Parts: sequence; structure tokens; C-alpha cells
Amino acid sequence: ESKSGGRGRATLFDEEMLSEKRYRRFLERELRAAIYLNELEVHYQPVTDASRTAAAVEGLVRWRHPVRGMIPPSQFIPVAERSNLIDLLGAWVFRRACLDAPTLPAGRIGINVSGEQLKRDEIVTMMRRVLNETGCDAARFTLEITETVATAATPQVIARIETLRAMGFQIALDDFGTGHCGFNYLKELPIDCIKIDRSYIRELGERSIAQVFVSALTQVARLQGLTIVAEGIETEAEFELAKAAGCNQFQGFLLGRPQPKLRPPQPAADSVREAALVA
Ligand code: C2E
Ligand code: MG
Ligand code: MG
Ligand code: MG
Repeated sequence: ESKSGGRGRATLFDEEMLSEKRYRRFLERELRAAIYLNELEVHYQPVTDASRTAAAVEGLVRWRHPVRGMIPPSQFIPVAERSNLIDLLGAWVFRRACLDAPTLPAGRIGINVSGEQLKRDEIVTMMRRVLNETGCDAARFTLEITETVATAATPQVIARIETLRAMGFQIALDDFGTGHCGFNYLKELPIDCIKIDRSYIRELGERSIAQVFVSALTQVARLQGLTIVAEGIETEAEFELAKAAGCNQFQGFLLGRPQPKLRPPQPAADSVREAALVA
């Protein structure tokens, strides 16, 4: 008997659950095939210093679906995370980045790592194997782990992060500000870099709480020797405010979009207009 009453309702509920489960299995099968058929791509977005010079890149996975077109990671990473596909996908992305590394601009390559991958030792063995097979150096990469994963990490997960760091990977705390990370965590977590979530960047401005928070964070980070990246810079004003708050590196559509093959950072709007006038 259903708690919510009539029999009809219980049946409807069961049917919904079944179809959702079926749909998820369908997506899983499609995604598994996509990995084997090489329908995935890694696009690279530049990360610059204060003078707009490329300092690093971040690799972002996309699924070029033959019928549905380009599918963003937000639509299939959760599917992969609910199944064992995330390990396969993570390995595919890391191998692709290792193969692309020689043609990418100098500097670190950011790779997003799922919290699910960090729950198993497989990530360490996989990364060792791929580095060996491709002749890449771990020191070329930064592994990006979301703040929520880091603050909820078990001792085993922390130990795995430390092992990866000892191999030469840098560790970045991604989407910082969306979780519950206090300043005290920054002393304890084995990290090298903090990426401030774009929701904070949107709120930067004179006398805004975000500006005070980001400024305080950059001061703490400097003491700890951490790099601070401002994510999601879309306007000149955001770029200026993030610089004023003391961020070291900058990423966002203003400085360059994720692209299959990376072009140098775009010049400021003014210099584009000037160049057009001269030409
Ligand atoms: P993330 O690691 O925080 O990556 C930054 C996201 O912000 C990317 O979205 C990027 O395209 C977008 N972005 C960059 N600059 C701007 C901007 O100026 N404005 C706005 N509105 N957005 C900007 P994307 O590529 O859709 O990726 C979303 C998330 O999916 C990533 O967030 C990351 O958590 C996850 N992801 C991407 N690739 C992978 C991967 O290979 N493995 C795993 N596990 N997760 C991945
Ligand atoms: Mg990231
Ligand atoms: Mg982020
Ligand atoms: Mg994100």
C-alpha cells in the first residue's frame, strides 16, 4: 500500500521511477558508446596573469553528439558520476590532455577531477599509467577539485590528494565560495591554488561584501603561498575589480572562451576598435 493514498497514485509513482531509471540507463549506454567512438572533445580556456598574458589553460570536456549537437558537461558528468563511467571518462580526458600538452601554450593545464574518482585508488594508478604511456610530466597539470569535495573529504581522500601532489600535480580548489570552506581549512588542505567562483566575481564592486571577502582571501592566500584565480571574468570592470582585490590569475569569456584549439588571449575592446580604425 502506498503512503500517499490510492492505488492509482502508487502505480503512477512507480512508473515515474521506472522511466527515470530507464532514461538514466539509456544515457549511460549512450555516453559509454560516445567515449569509445571518440565523440568527446576537450576544449581549452586560457587563464591569464594581470597583463592578459596566458599563464595556464583549463581543459573542459564536451560531447559532440551526432544528433543533439554539442552537449555541455553539466548534462553528462552527473550521469557519469552516478555510474562507474566517471573513471573511464576521467581517464579519457586526462589522456587527451596529455596528448594535447605539447601543442598547448606553456604553463599548467587544469584538469577537473570528480569527487567520485577520488573515492578510489584507481585515479592514482590511472594517472601514473597515462603519464607513463604519453611521456607527460605531472608537473604540467593542476588537478581541480571542487571546494565541496575537499571539505567533505575523508582521510583516505586527503591521502590520495597528497599522493597525487607528491607525484608533481598541483591541486586547485575549484568553485571556491560555493561551499563551506573556512579560512582554517586553507591551512589544512594540501592545495596550491584557489579558484574563486564566478558568483563572487559578479558581485565585486566598491564597498561590496564580495570585494572585502576576496581581498581578505587573497591576503590569507599570499601568506600560504597560494595562487588565486578569479573565474568567470566577463567584463573589463570585473577584471579591474578582481585585480584590485589581489587575485593573481584570471579566467573568463573576456580573456578567452574555451576552444578546441587555443588562440592567444583577445586584446581589450578598445585596442580592437583602434586596430580596426588603423586598418
Ligand atoms: P568549472 O571547472 O568551474 O569550469 C568553468 C566553467 O565556467 C566552464 O563551464 C566554462 O566554460 C565556464 N566559463 C568560463 N568563463 C566563463 C565566463 O566568463 N562566464 C560564464 N558564464 N562561464 C564561464 P563548462 O565547460 O560548461 O563546465 C562546467 C563544469 O563541468 C566545470 O566547472 C567542471 O566542474 C565540470 N567539468 C568540465 N570538464 C570536466 C571534466 O573533464 N571532468 C569533470 N569531472 N568535470 C568537468
Ligand atoms: Mg574547473
Ligand atoms: Mg569553477
Ligand atoms: Mg563549476
